[in-house]
Amino acid sequence: MTESKKNVTIEDVINIMKKHNRKSNTKKILKAYEFAYNAHKEQKRESGEPYIIHPVNVAAILANLELDDDTICAALLHDVIEDTSVTREDISKEFGEEVTELIDGVTKLKSLTYTDKEEQQMENYRKMFLAMGKDARVILIKLADRLHNMRTLNYVTEGKQIRKAKETMDIYAPLANRLGIYSLKWELEDLAFRYLYPEEYMKIVEGLSEKRQERLAFLDVITDNIKKHLKAQRISFEIQSRAKHLYSIYRKMQRDHCGLESIYDLFAIRVIVNTVKDCYTVLGIVHDLYTPMSGRFKDYIAVPKANMYQSIHTTLIGTKGVPFEVQIRTWDMHRIAEFGIAAHWAYKEANKEKKSNVIVKEDKLAWLRETLEWQKDTQDPEEFMKALKTELFEDEVYVFTPRGDIKVLPKGAIPIDFAYAIHEQIGHKMVGAKINGKMRPIITPLENGDIVEIITSDTTKGPSRDWLKIVKSSTAKTRIQQWFKKADREKNIVKGRELLEKEIKRIGIPQEDLMKAEWIQLVLQRYKFDTIEDMYSSIGFGAITVGKIISRLLAEYRKIHKEVDIEEKIEALNKMPKNKISSTNNGIIVKGIDNCLVKLAKCCNPLPGDEIVGYITKGRGVSVHRADCTNINELISEESRLIDVEWYQNDSISYNVDIEIYATDRRGLLSDIVKELGNRNIKLTGVNSKVIKKEIALTEVKLEVNNLEELNKTIKALREIESVYEVSRKK
Ligand code: MN
Repeated sequence: MTESKKNVTIEDVINIMKKHNRKSNTKKILKAYEFAYNAHKEQKRESGEPYIIHPVNVAAILANLELDDDTICAALLHDVIEDTSVTREDISKEFGEEVTELIDGVTKLKSLTYTDKEEQQMENYRKMFLAMGKDARVILIKLADRLHNMRTLNYVTEGKQIRKAKETMDIYAPLANRLGIYSLKWELEDLAFRYLYPEEYMKIVEGLSEKRQERLAFLDVITDNIKKHLKAQRISFEIQSRAKHLYSIYRKMQRDHCGLESIYDLFAIRVIVNTVKDCYTVLGIVHDLYTPMSGRFKDYIAVPKANMYQSIHTTLIGTKGVPFEVQIRTWDMHRIAEFGIAAHWAYKEANKEKKSNVIVKEDKLAWLRETLEWQKDTQDPEEFMKALKTELFEDEVYVFTPRGDIKVLPKGAIPIDFAYAIHEQIGHKMVGAKINGKMRPIITPLENGDIVEIITSDTTKGPSRDWLKIVKSSTAKTRIQQWFKKADREKNIVKGRELLEKEIKRIGIPQEDLMKAEWIQLVLQRYKFDTIEDMYSSIGFGAITVGKIISRLLAEYRKIHKEVDIEEKIEALNKMPKNKISSTNNGIIVKGIDNCLVKLAKCCNPLPGDEIVGYITKGRGVSVHRADCTNINELISEESRLIDVEWYQNDSISYNVDIEIYATDRRGLLSDIVKELGNRNIKLTGVNSKVIKKEIALTEVKLEVNNLEELNKTIKALREIESVYEVSRKK
């Protein structure tokens, strides 16, 4: 951890900047500081300290990552648009468009709320990722912001601590890892760990301090010995011994089901030298001095991780048979390990004056570019998110060509991914694969170290559509899609037009009434097609469903065909058996119809105040769903069965609703929940409580309320209960 934990001042920030870059614009940074200082003047942090402490600390974290002046200014100003009366225009006038864009990006990321719901979470990742594609410095500011908030988390409520810690562990630490910024990743993880598992955290901290002296003495002997031999070889070096970070120790204990006492490499030695050649010389020397442990040698210099990390790791057996880990790297690699993607900007700025032999290859950011490329080609956000998740959060597998070239693929990749990673033509012409010399199915998941040989043929018809479902890498997906796009364009246009016309016929609206030129234009814009042929081809090829196009057209159609629709629907309703039609008694009015059977859908339990839609069932009247109900959304292609419904206010009717309460488990939790509901005169019709994760309890309650307003008040009150951190209505 490179930053000190105490509060820093703006002078500290400027000194750090000057140290890394003599030409840093102190005047601009001071101006940003003063601007932020005045804007936040009246505000206090939860700790009671003046608010300005927060942006200054965030700026210091980024200054230590050697980021440029604009990023530092944006960091100082990152909360002003959101939290004060300052506007975007004010900032733009004072600090220019680049700083403003960065602050804008950070402000937009703020509106992302963390949730356990997979779908919403995906949307959040998507936004973050898009922000990152535009300018990764936005994410760096966000990470620094989160780090300082985590450092000062002891001032907020317990519920908020857990929520923030979980979010940090789930999103921000993996993101820092993927961007290769280990200095941030470690500290974020350890801080989150402390709040999520306080007991385990303390146990490790205490355990480490107990044996500290003993271990330091052990490492001293070893480092002295290594130093002596390196000096004899006239290598210039620095040697550091350091504790492993706490969360990684904890993970190891979990994984190996063991206690702290059986983890040997609690401390590691790091040797930093000037050249790659020296790295291998050091490796030779330490392997000469101590016996290496087999299977514990990793050469990330020859095979860098995709996030740019390079180092040699080896575990050796010390005196009395106690193993210890040694990491060997150059100063340039050290920088990249600490700064990750941030080094990219740091060098762009500093290269002009500092001569450096580090080349942060554009290629190292290839994963980012390729996933963005894929995003351009797919209209389906779910598919895109799946790809992103794979690229961003899953591990990698390292495989070799027969000539010994390395390819880094997402974990679970198959020979088809490998083929496309070599060259698009190899992929298109692939007919089989040999793994480690044996013919194997082309869908075999690859493992680290596999040597893969792709068999091609000039007479193959090309890739199969099924491949799109089984490949893991964005590269392969994009290239396969492009192949189909090109090869099949004409065919797809015909097929797509047929599919669309068939569907229009099925819903019974004359084609010329639905395919109005101006509506088509709206659809093209909405889904980013240049021409109607592009749209047909996309339908034919399966990148977008007919349902999506039709529902967009129907939305326009309904604006002018309301009356006709209702008449048709009344007719449909009249065909229902007479004895099943009764007056509505659940507060619903079906527009244009006095008397028909109305039921509230059990899947989404709508309440007065919810936006609702009616669906004409086959012979069972109208069922009423919430407009955001997933079931009703699946019925989208049956637009003709939808009917307008609305609430009439009647507070004597009560409605069922299911809610979920997430809380840190504790004695008396359930009785507090029940008591709160009793106080509010809410009828409780069912309770189910269980512990879902370590110390996290999920309580599901069934209630009766009169309307949405009452429900929202109740949810708000439940959120106030001690240790509760999330209350939500079940979808
Ligand atoms: Mn902030």
